[in-house]
Amino acid sequence: MSEKRDTENLTGSVEIQRDDRALKPRYMQHIGKELYLFDSVFNGTTYIHVQELDRENTRSTLNGITLTLQRCNELYSILPEVVIHIDQIRRSEPTFYRRHIGGNWYVTMETGFNTVYIRKFWLPDNATSIRATGNGVSLSFNQFDELKNGLRIIDSFVPELNSVMPCYLSGNHLRDLCIECSPNNNGIA
Ligand SMILES: [Zn+2]
Repeated sequence: MSEKRDTENLTGSVEIQRDDRALKPRYMQHIGKELYLFDSVFNGTTYIHVQELDRENTRSTLNGITLTLQRCNELYSILPEVVIHIDQIRRSEPTFYRRHIGGNWYVTMETGFNTVYIRKFWLPDNATSIRATGNGVSLSFNQFDELKNGLRIIDSFVPELNSVMPCYLSGNHLRDLCIECSPNNNGIA
């Protein structure tokens, strides 16, 4: 995170739970229905999840997404754009939004669907446009609001979010050849 997140202007209540059983996240927030925002560490690498959990919040089910810290930060950086498009959709103004957050992960929205999709895409061989995979999550606007509130403060609990550089500043990034920023290597993503 290049700038300190704004924790002054949080709206609504933010429910923070700690779970010392199976998942042991440092941050966990219920964002509606069975969906939770939480972190995990696997083999020394931290991931951020928007995932369904079972009733005891101890085990994740298959429905949900796992983001790298870099992609989570990209998602955080586009929250204002998503809010603008939610407003447009609520006013039934024609709009289509698709924003790449790295590695073929996209945030998409479209008038007629009161949903924010965060989904992984892929480019089939010989295809000219990317296709959605089944790996993703669809959020109602209320769930998105809860996610937005959580993303504004999760770095206080998962501080390594603040030390991850955007890809374009990292050593892995080579202009036009970065598999994170241009995973299909053809300008599509
Ligand atoms: Zn890159």
